[in-house]
Amino acid sequence: ATEDIKVLLLENVNETGREILSQQGYQVEFLKSSLPEDQLIEKIRDVHVIGIRSKTKLTARVLKEAKNLIVIGCFCIGTNQVDLQYAADQGIAVFNSPFSNSRSVAELVIGEMVVLARQLGDRSNEMHNGTWNKVSNGCWEIRGKTLGIIGYGHIGAQLSVLAEAMGMSVIYFDVLNIMSLGTARQVESLEQLLGQADFVTCHVPEIAETKGMIGQKQFEQMKKGSYLINASRGTVVDIPALIDAMRSGKVAGAALDVYPNEPAGNGDYFDSSLNSWGADLRSLKNLILTPHIGGSTEEAQKAIGVEVAQALVRYANEGSTQGAVNLPEVTLRSLTMDEPNHARVIYIHKNIPGVLRKVNEIIGDHNVDKQMTDSRGDVAYLMADISNVDTATIRDLYTRLESLPSRIMTRILY
Ligand code: NAD
Repeated sequence: ATEDIKVLLLENVNETGREILSQQGYQVEFLKSSLPEDQLIEKIRDVHVIGIRSKTKLTARVLKEAKNLIVIGCFCIGTNQVDLQYAADQGIAVFNSPFSNSRSVAELVIGEMVVLARQLGDRSNEMHNGTWNKVSNGCWEIRGKTLGIIGYGHIGAQLSVLAEAMGMSVIYFDVLNIMSLGTARQVESLEQLLGQADFVTCHVPEIAETKGMIGQKQFEQMKKGSYLINASRGTVVDIPALIDAMRSGKVAGAALDVYPNEPAGNGDYFDSSLNSWGADLRSLKNLILTPHIGGSTEEAQKAIGVEVAQALVRYANEGSTQGAVNLPEVTLRSLTMDEPNHARVIYIHKNIPGVLRKVNEIIGDHNVDKQMTDSRGDVAYLMADISNVDTATIRDLYTRLESLPSRIMTRILY
């Protein structure tokens, strides 16, 4: 029953998420901070659901103690703080919120284009230093200019719509064929994009293929006096090459929100042990430097709260793994709760030959309305809705599934 579900929320997760979980009738304990490991282990033994942000480390050592845990919600984008494989091997699902801040990033890029085109960063710095320096040379409207978007995913596509509303023409390059929004146009190659765009902005994931994707050769292919924006991941742009391109005047301005090696916490800004180019970046004109704040808005925090809490509820109540980062994605139409003789069987198991035959021997005697199964690496997830079963049968099913050697976790919802 939902009121038996114990939830521990750490690190002050957004109240939008807290409300959704409390409304379900779960027992929700809420803490503003993270916990030291020994206290975390004490608490985690008891709970079925835990919600964290980036500071709580859910290592194998901690998760080993989490005997009742079924699901982890990361109320953030990253999931490095969780041992995802260990969690999967224990049948613990992990959810995060990858796309709730797409709009915030897209808006930031719009703002940065105007700021770069008008050299606002430099003018503002000069005024802060007491200098009145009125110039129009090299200052532009963005209307009528071409924006080149590299990576037309959640952020790239949002940006496309906003940029057209500002009177820009939009081209994009993506490894996938993606339908364009508005009158944007997909180009065949990165080189074509770089040769046509007045503003180039990167919105690709951090993967081997995108490492150093914008380097010396790509800067040579860009138009003289164009602008570069990177709010994707720090490895995408080769910073020394950017510094050269700005010094030579090839690039008229740039905005960086992400860096190859970002400091662990606030304060130690561009510590020289982190990189060799910090001082060069700081000396350049018309370069906006921000500390990875592309997605940092109140709206995005609220959206993260809602998105992750809803995923936790769907998982706890219905077993749906849609959006899970460490388990196969399996979902079935919602259970009809008012039909008392229905049960939903969830069997998380090791992905080894012959399991499905054994499972079907157990549930196959009953009326299986629907069933779905999928695997991801060593772990598989089976979900089946069966009807015309009573409590005694359900107990029996549970015991038999639990005794199979392939078993990782069995849950029966009804
Ligand atoms: P997404 O997955 O929705 O879109 C990425 C797009 O890039 C996809 O369409 C994909 O096909 C395309 N792509 C992949 N490899 C490519 C390649 N080699 N060349 C061209 N296109 C390629 O991702 P998203 O949500 O739009 O996020 C984009 C980036 O922004 C990610 O790196 C993400 O981590 C980053 N991000 C940064 C912030 C921030 O605070 N600055 C916030 C959110 C996301």
